[in-house]
Amino acid sequence: MTSPNSAQRPAVLPTLLGLGPRFADRRRRALPAGVLRLPTIGVDIGGTKVVAGVVDGEGRVLESVRTETPHKSKSPAVVEDVIVDLVLQLADKHDVHAVGVGAAGWVDAERSRVLFAPHLNWRNEPLRDALSRRLRFPVVVENDANAAAWAEWRFGAGRGEDHMVMITLGTGIGGAVVRDGWVDRGKYGLAGEFGHMQVVPGGHRCPCGNRGCWEQYSSGNALVREARGLVAEESPVIEGLLARAGGTAEGITGPLVTEAARDGDATATELLYEVGHWLGVGIANLAAALDPGRFVVGGGVSEAGDLLLGPAREAFGRTLTGRGFRPEAGLVHAALGNEAGLVGAADLARQVARRFRTIKRHRVERAAGGA
Ligand SMILES: [Zn+2]
Repeated sequence: MTSPNSAQRPAVLPTLLGLGPRFADRRRRALPAGVLRLPTIGVDIGGTKVVAGVVDGEGRVLESVRTETPHKSKSPAVVEDVIVDLVLQLADKHDVHAVGVGAAGWVDAERSRVLFAPHLNWRNEPLRDALSRRLRFPVVVENDANAAAWAEWRFGAGRGEDHMVMITLGTGIGGAVVRDGWVDRGKYGLAGEFGHMQVVPGGHRCPCGNRGCWEQYSSGNALVREARGLVAEESPVIEGLLARAGGTAEGITGPLVTEAARDGDATATELLYEVGHWLGVGIANLAAALDPGRFVVGGGVSEAGDLLLGPAREAFGRTLTGRGFRPEAGLVHAALGNEAGLVGAADLARQVARRFRTIKRHRVERAAGGA
């Protein structure tokens, strides 16, 4: 559970020593004034767009720029060009000291390489070194769900909780564990792939190759698949949604279902109820394994609010092992919306910015001493 890259994970040592997060907080407070407030840049690389933003020490986005994600067929260099271009646009106007990149994909434990990305042509891609060579900033690469979880823990719905699990409901399910002030990445950097836990033996086929994965039942894709399934079956209950979607199954999207449910459409409400139900069942499984104090649910589908979290809490309460005989984790809505990934990546970069400044200062001092 603990890999030796403690330099990138400042709270690991106090954790190993059993000193916990309060010690880490004290250390943070003891740092020279201003250092933690350094603005840094966070980059969020999603399936459809790349967003970069300057983030201050309080987690506020000062300015952001965005562009489309290059197509999957493009070479890694094209994606790097896009990132470099966005970062330089911001660095021209702001005094920034490091860059954090949150990417949808598997990032190795050293946070240096993207092992695999579903939306991009990255296979064992040495992204951190490639970018820091070109940008001349320290760069941190992080899985997007880890970055979002970090942001929620630092500035959002996870604040004050020393054992938090984040669930990101988008087209699939992303997840992360933040414990005692650090992201638990697992041995190889791949912890938190909760979406591929099997919840229905022999269930729906998942692009991962298995059947019955959690994200086949609780995600934006699951929501849309079920709605379009009703269209294919020419069910009368889908007529209202279909009319909203311009009469075509392809027009039915997650946000459209949420909007219809808010307006009181019974089928849309039922579809969200099912996704929420499965969300609660999966969360109960996670509670059995991890026993956190709080689950924070973010991602696009979570915009449905209590239409989703209501049934999730209900199913969680009915499925949790040892219910009635144990403290139950809270299940709350994420606070930072779709900026969480960007804010978290920037904040994680702030940790290396500090090192970078120190190294630079030492170099300057040495040079001055030698002259
Ligand atoms: Zn799967």
